[in-house]
Amino acid sequence: MSDDFEKAFSRACLHATEFRRSLPERPNLPKSDYHAMRRELTQPLPENGISAAVMIDELAEIAEPGLMAMPGPRFFGWVIGGSHPAGVAADWLTSAWGQNAAYHTPTPATAVLEEVAAGWLLDIFNLPSESSVGFATGGTVANAICLTAARGSVLRAMDWDVDADGLFGAPPIHVFVGDDAHTSVFFALQFIGLGHDRVIRIATDDQGRMDASVLAREVSARTGPMIVVAQAGQINTGAFDPFTEIVEIAKKARAWVHVDGAFGLWARSCPDRAHLTEGIDGADSWVADGHKWLQTPFDCGYAIVRDAEAHQRAMTIWASYLPTIEEGDRIPSALVPELSRRGRGVATWAMLKTLGRKGVAEMVGKHCSMARRIADRLAAEPGATVLNDVVLNQVIVQFGSGPDDARERLTQAVIDLVQAEDVCYVGGARWHDRWVMRISVISYAITVDDADRLTVSILRAWRSVRDAE
Ligand SMILES: *Cc1c(COP(=O)(O)O)cnc(C)c1O
Repeated sequence: MSDDFEKAFSRACLHATEFRRSLPERPNLPKSDYHAMRRELTQPLPENGISAAVMIDELAEIAEPGLMAMPGPRFFGWVIGGSHPAGVAADWLTSAWGQNAAYHTPTPATAVLEEVAAGWLLDIFNLPSESSVGFATGGTVANAICLTAARGSVLRAMDWDVDADGLFGAPPIHVFVGDDAHTSVFFALQFIGLGHDRVIRIATDDQGRMDASVLAREVSARTGPMIVVAQAGQINTGAFDPFTEIVEIAKKARAWVHVDGAFGLWARSCPDRAHLTEGIDGADSWVADGHKWLQTPFDCGYAIVRDAEAHQRAMTIWASYLPTIEEGDRIPSALVPELSRRGRGVATWAMLKTLGRKGVAEMVGKHCSMARRIADRLAAEPGATVLNDVVLNQVIVQFGSGPDDARERLTQAVIDLVQAEDVCYVGGARWHDRWVMRISVISYAITVDDADRLTVSILRAWRSVRDAE
């Protein structure tokens, strides 16, 4: 059983190739559904094993009807990347190497590849080169990491060692968050003991941008340790907070500024869009996802902290059997809440090596112009209203007129029809009390032709809903 790895690997490769080849033509939606699959696949733990190759064949076969065409070219749902083959292949190698990539000296290959990838990320994001980068599972955990570093740092300034002594009895931290922050920010605050409700929510405008004058007022009304959480790329509108003003207000109060830029930070890689992020480099920590715009396979997010010591203090785990650390060494596990870990950064190295600076910039730019093209065509149609300024890759649309509930019903009817036709996949979302269709152009696989097919499908659906009214 242990020596048939060649067969297992080549069968896996074959099935993966077949799946990826099927993407341009296959439906977006899974043929089966969750409950049906649960009925079919639930079985008792096998008493006896089978060969790895046979298992892989069976796995591919039983999974097939339950796969969504997420990495396909007609997938516009949610804000997620397309698991580019280069990243997937590198990730396979990473798994096959079987390195526990926690430390640097026992596994120098993965350690140095991640270190190089970290440097490339700071370069492409144009962020301070002294920052440290932790490879986490995604934006949610990366937000928690950065906010833990922030928590430690602002309390340290008050002579409180939160890592040793915990939060009980610590000086209270004021946390300021924009009203349209991503839900994962609130979860991260909950997770690290700062509470998802124990925040000062800052009003936002119709695009979801924090109102800097409200922030200034709220900050100046308080003293003590403070953290301000800003956002690059609102999950519905793609909007960016006014970073220059936010940083200026925060710095006066010695507040830590954290920026959640899970997909929006990638705007910095693209010369046409970098202006959206102006002033962002004045912050103290940043989050971006690899599995969004860089198209790495799941899962991959980056926790970037300017004060590398604060980052390490918050995440370091130590035991006697672990290798010694020399000045300047980068310890992969000291930047994330993990000890044993895969070399998650290798896929990032692979994607940046494959695309290069130009490739990333072109892809981001292309997605933004496709979003614009889709929005312009939809906005030209009577009864379709594009609700956001399409500055990035996100488009939100509402259909119909009249009272809110009528528009809500019509919009959902259009979404349902588009999903039923299944040429393209889009979903709905709530935006400021309105139910909208949300279109994300973020997968590497999408071409202008696919974007046009999406527009045609949406318009066809809307006209048929409208005619039936
Ligand atoms: C996707 C996203 C997150 C969460 O990231 P995960 O990788 O899903 O954990 C956080 N913030 C924003 C703005 C996002 O778009």
